[in-house]
Amino acid sequence: MRGLAQQALKRSARVADRLRPPAAGAVVLVYHRIGGSSGLDIDMPAAMFDAQMALLAASGRAAPIDAALARIGCIEPADLDPVVVTFDDGTADFADAAMPILERHRIPVTLYVATDFVERQVPFPHEGTPISWGALDDVQETGLVTVGAHTHTHALLDRLDPHDVETELDHSDALIEQRLGRRPAHFAYPKAVPGSAAADAAVRRRYRSAAVAGTRPNPYGRTDPHRLARSPIQVSDGMEYFRAKLAGGMGLEDRVRTLANRWRYRAAAG
Ligand SMILES: [Zn+2]
Repeated sequence: MRGLAQQALKRSARVADRLRPPAAGAVVLVYHRIGGSSGLDIDMPAAMFDAQMALLAASGRAAPIDAALARIGCIEPADLDPVVVTFDDGTADFADAAMPILERHRIPVTLYVATDFVERQVPFPHEGTPISWGALDDVQETGLVTVGAHTHTHALLDRLDPHDVETELDHSDALIEQRLGRRPAHFAYPKAVPGSAAADAAVRRRYRSAAVAGTRPNPYGRTDPHRLARSPIQVSDGMEYFRAKLAGGMGLEDRVRTLANRWRYRAAAG
């Protein structure tokens, strides 16, 4: 039933895109896991990821995050809207399963790492094996990978006091710099939850960009780089809805999900 409702929502999102086509701008995709062993909708079989990256490579739109940010800083539309591939969390399958595919298609990628899991080798939920610092160093050597910050403990920054926010970000930035030799310049909010005003200020001070959710393009000349919209890619997107998300579409899916979450939260809060 859940799957049926999800497919109905995806179909409706396509219809909504036809009625009101998405704006031009940079598209930021977010993946979590590759290999499909967990059976989660965010854990994509390697063959599907390969097909998606082949399509992206053929489009000529794949761009590193810094190039895409520079581009959306200009008001004039680009000939080709840039697409940034991002991954969240830092699981071992990034090096083992995703990276060979990204290298084959020469796709630049930003990986946002929650450092506590890597440092202490604590599994992520749903048996997510953390990546090692050695593997991160190796993938960085390819020149395709930008390692970004994702807090230390995958903390939701809307509910921490300002001191704890700084501690989270201090630990994350220091570990990445110590282990990989570079301070992270980009950030993704865990679970795409934007932070409190204090967290927002800390994130703006530390990083050149910060990613949230949104499933929409980031338009030229009027995007806040600290509110970068991302489009999550799920197994249930297949190639059809992947193409739609590449085109900056499927925003209705995110809007309905946000409403449903708010409703659920209100119901739980009583
Ligand atoms: Zn995450």
